Amino acid sequence: MKKSRAQEPDLGRYGKLAEYNRKRRFDVTPEPSGKVGRAKQKEREFVIQKHRASHLHYDFRLEHDGVMLSWSVPKGPSLDPSVKRFAMQTEDHPIDYNQFEGVIPEGEYGGGTVMIWDNGTWEPEVDDVDRAFEKGDLKFKLHGKKLRGSWVLVRMRSRQWLLIKHRDAAASTDDITAKKNRSVVSRRTLAAIAKAAGASAKQLEAAKEADAPPT
Ligand code: MN
Repeated sequence: MKKSRAQEPDLGRYGKLAEYNRKRRFDVTPEPSGKVGRAKQKEREFVIQKHRASHLHYDFRLEHDGVMLSWSVPKGPSLDPSVKRFAMQTEDHPIDYNQFEGVIPEGEYGGGTVMIWDNGTWEPEVDDVDRAFEKGDLKFKLHGKKLRGSWVLVRMRSRQWLLIKHRDAAASTDDITAKKNRSVVSRRTLAAIAKAAGASAKQLEAAKEADAPPT
């Protein structure tokens, strides 16, 4: 983590969520403002948010040291161990973000509809998460409603990682993102979330498209 951020401006004095807070206008977006939470040793949360912004992607977040480490996965996770999914590391998010499902207004950062696609807890399969993160080889187990078992995030370069399922009982060739396209908290589709939150016509159309399994 420290290594990949060496070339960026030093925002350390604003805390881990400086980048998150800088990108958002909290008087306009319904997203939570960023506060660093208390680091927990047990029951670390994870969340995956299906997000139809300018492009559809799945935001993969793991709780660590009071924030959610975050990656944007354009194609979403795959249960097939032979499939490597590209995962772009994004700014740390507040733990409160795990509860966010709704619509970010058009013109705002990440404008579009957000669904809580999966959630639960995770546990590292390494002794030291910080070291594994810096090395770019983070092995972990997910205890979610859709995703389970052992996974790995491997860094290729700077912020570019791969998300890969390990071979175990939870591995499968099922197309999980197509088969399970509803929210784990509200059972709603992306279009239903968009409609309820008063999305624009354009956002509603994009949400409907993202609900349909890829052809
Ligand atoms: Mn996103």
